[in-house]
Amino acid sequence: MTERLPLMAGNWKMNLDHLEAIRHTQKLAFTLADKDYAAVEVAVLVPFTDLRSVQTLVDGDKLKIKYGSQDISQHDGGAYTGEVSGPMLSKLNCAYAVIGHSERRQYHGENEEIVNAKVKAAYRNGITPILCIGEPLDIRKAGTHVEYTLGQLDGALDGVPASDAETIVVAYEPVWAIGTGEVATPEDAQEVCGAIRARLAELYTPELAGKVRVLYGGSVKSSSAAGLMAKPDIDGGLIGGASLDADEFVKIVRYRD
Ligand code: PGA
Repeated sequence: MTERLPLMAGNWKMNLDHLEAIRHTQKLAFTLADKDYAAVEVAVLVPFTDLRSVQTLVDGDKLKIKYGSQDISQHDGGAYTGEVSGPMLSKLNCAYAVIGHSERRQYHGENEEIVNAKVKAAYRNGITPILCIGEPLDIRKAGTHVEYTLGQLDGALDGVPASDAETIVVAYEPVWAIGTGEVATPEDAQEVCGAIRARLAELYTPELAGKVRVLYGGSVKSSSAAGLMAKPDIDGGLIGGASLDADEFVKIVRYRD
């Protein structure tokens, strides 16, 4: 079986200005030790206005924290007021871009076509997508959450070659669990994360599916991290609220302790 390095990624959402970002990243860097980075990849997904500050800190002090954006334009440049392009993010050495977060789908009308175009834009620019998929509450109640989520996966990966898809990070984030304090049970999260891996094996190959990291996101805290991580198809977490508290985020990184 392929060894997948767990990924704990903090999604700051629209929090922390660039000065707060510097302080927060420094605190993480100060607290985390080499053994933490050996066991878990640590990333912060920050507002656009924080990227340059975080990059300067990470580059200057050779920090092992990875960083990325929370969105990316589907276009590489031009008359798209307010957008930030892949080439701009890549110039700042962004490792990751969050794509298709439910808040973008809900408040910014991002549909499958846009999400698919953004996944391709990220790959075109050497940035690894953290693709977010997951069902709202009514779909969960109707019991069709697996097919709903796999439909989002299919849409996002349409036309994406295996040579790109093998590096993707997929985050299963049930909408009803995001920011609500209602974390999915490890069993519920495993059901969908396992189905995601199985679908990747169908769309591509079992080898590729074995390499891809599938994260769970939705009210993850240090108290729930170990239980989720014990499941075979959960390779990390996309952590919103709890990532804004450096001590709590470090505890999540150290979920094995
Ligand atoms: P939460 O957010 O941890 O605050 O629920 C997760 C996310 O939206 O990525």
